[in-house]
Amino acid sequence: MHRFLSYGRQSIDEEDIQAVVDVLRSDYLTCGPAVEEFEKEFARFIGAKHAISFANATGALHIAMLAAGIGPGDRVLTSPLTFVASANCAAFVGAIPDFVDVDPATLLFCADEFEKALTPDVKAVIPVDLAGLSPDMPAIAEVARKHGVAVIQDACHAAGGGFEYNGQHWKTGAHPWADMTVFSFHPVKTMTTGEGGMITTDCDELARKARLYRAHGIVRSGNDMQGLGSDLSVMKEMGPWYYEMHELGYNYRLTDIQCALGRSQLKKLNAFMARRRDIVRTYNEAFSGATWIETPYCPADRLQDTSWHLYSPRFDFEGLGMTRTEVMKELARYGVGSQVLYIPVHLQPWYRKTYGYAPGKCPVAERAYAKLISLPLFPAMDDDDVAHVIESVLKLPSL
Ligand SMILES: *Cc1c(COP(=O)(O)O)cnc(C)c1O
Repeated sequence: MHRFLSYGRQSIDEEDIQAVVDVLRSDYLTCGPAVEEFEKEFARFIGAKHAISFANATGALHIAMLAAGIGPGDRVLTSPLTFVASANCAAFVGAIPDFVDVDPATLLFCADEFEKALTPDVKAVIPVDLAGLSPDMPAIAEVARKHGVAVIQDACHAAGGGFEYNGQHWKTGAHPWADMTVFSFHPVKTMTTGEGGMITTDCDELARKARLYRAHGIVRSGNDMQGLGSDLSVMKEMGPWYYEMHELGYNYRLTDIQCALGRSQLKKLNAFMARRRDIVRTYNEAFSGATWIETPYCPADRLQDTSWHLYSPRFDFEGLGMTRTEVMKELARYGVGSQVLYIPVHLQPWYRKTYGYAPGKCPVAERAYAKLISLPLFPAMDDDDVAHVIESVLKLPSL
């Protein structure tokens, strides 16, 4: 029996473990130097001016909404083929999350459908890098800027990814077509801090707000101190104890323990991505002859730029003569884990109940959902693991 391969998992080595142990022996478990070091190194790696770390990407998306000034009365458009957090963040701030159907070939949020869905209350758009593949950000930003819509890219699948545009390479999180970009460091993503997230931005003001909302809305120094009221103006004296709360913020800090792991993982991100690409290339070749498998969309010139968080082919279950549940059970018998990513968010009971969304709202995403299966893809898979997945999948029709 082959060892069980889940659809995704972390790759941790002794260097990562030592980095965490070193912090545990140091003075600061949180609010210490590792946080700033990780943020600086991540910003440098991506090529962004600012990187602000968060306890998780869900919190980072929440704060991105607040920093962009999104609130009640606003509508936020995203993709239905994503994790629920991409849309929930709009609801957190009292705005209405709404969905734009995906492109049938790429399954990505697309500029044309976005433009058609625009109403005057749309104030932000959250394009998602599904599986690591970047949506057409220049086209999306062109529509958004024409209509004064903030662009927050959900690149939770895409730390380290990018795209070519006008003959130039652009890194996700450091191009001019998003106001803020959000990354996740959950263990199944392309690098991990256990739980963790990051916002990158080139805008000083958005970075300032993101930091403010991340930690209770508290300010400790600077020119914008307001004092505590006329009768207490003496308190404006900036003693070492002094702080002011300027906004209703949260505690979404990432700890030094996690940032140490992040710094260590970041050193390996390029190697992780290279291994993911190798595996995707091997899968695509192996499955190219199977008429009942449609390999993930990726033109040859995009393969290299994509961080490949997921390998999600579309199966023709009718052609194969098996249901998805049968396929997943059969694969599991061989130790091959699989997952369905994603159930279209607008079909979730809470979304149907709260906003009246119904099947048929995003037919392309709904049809794709019926065919998607994510197969094991993580850098720690060796060639034998990859061959075992291929063999297990290709023997399905003979069952
Ligand atoms: C994982 C994920 C998130 C949430 O990330 P967390 O760090 O787990 O909060 C948001 N959006 C997408 C697309 C994701 O895959």
